[in-house]
Amino acid sequence: MFSLSRKTRKLYYEDVYLSECVATIVKVQGNAIELDRTVAYPEGGGQEADQGVIVLDDGREMRFVDARKMYGNALNMPNFPDIQVDGIIEHVIHESDVMLLRDAKPGSEVIVRIDRLRRAQLSLSHTASHLMYLGVCDVRPDAITGTIGCHIKPSGARFDFVVETRFAPDEVREVARIANAYVARGSEVKVYPHPDYLDARYWECEQRVIPCGGTHISSTTPIGPIQIQRKSLGRGKDRLSCEFRESMADPAWFHP
Ligand SMILES: [Zn+2]
Repeated sequence: MFSLSRKTRKLYYEDVYLSECVATIVKVQGNAIELDRTVAYPEGGGQEADQGVIVLDDGREMRFVDARKMYGNALNMPNFPDIQVDGIIEHVIHESDVMLLRDAKPGSEVIVRIDRLRRAQLSLSHTASHLMYLGVCDVRPDAITGTIGCHIKPSGARFDFVVETRFAPDEVREVARIANAYVARGSEVKVYPHPDYLDARYWECEQRVIPCGGTHISSTTPIGPIQIQRKSLGRGKDRLSCEFRESMADPAWFHP
């Protein structure tokens, strides 16, 4: 596989609360800009990317609408089937701001700043999705082995499963009961890297561990009540979606 010797330093793993950093422009290609370091979490593991602004050295701001990880190296570790380490991160510039890329010269310094509310919502949503997933582990372990995808948005998350038997309504209710019990207990959530690979990371709550490189919140409390729904995706495929309407409607848990 093609890989690059250069890599972007992932400050979002070194300090999960960092929302801004100084960086140096490495390359501009099309509508995207590569920096030597960034606080912007790129799309990965089903979690949508951060968005924000890149401030040029003359003070003008370019919005970025996506961040994507490229040219990583496969690690081939058990429990991390698809993980890629190292690689570069490109920030995709909003179409109305791309003309500013003419003045983005490699070697010059910029400031990268993410939309903190969006990051917090994604982190809450991602944490909630794991609680739903733990419920599925308990209620329908057969579905876990048939997990075929997930998508984590600020307002909700979903998992898709290949199943021989559909989720029955009482099974969906039991998954929701288990997920909400984690919230009610206000359990601590820990994230930490593999001792050898900063990019290979774990999420842990009540001694239950999931390999995951996404962003999360540190307690289950802010999630509030979780609503879970099942949807058929056609023959042999079920989707479980979770939402948390109370915490979305009133993000009092968010401290800018
Ligand atoms: Zn996660």
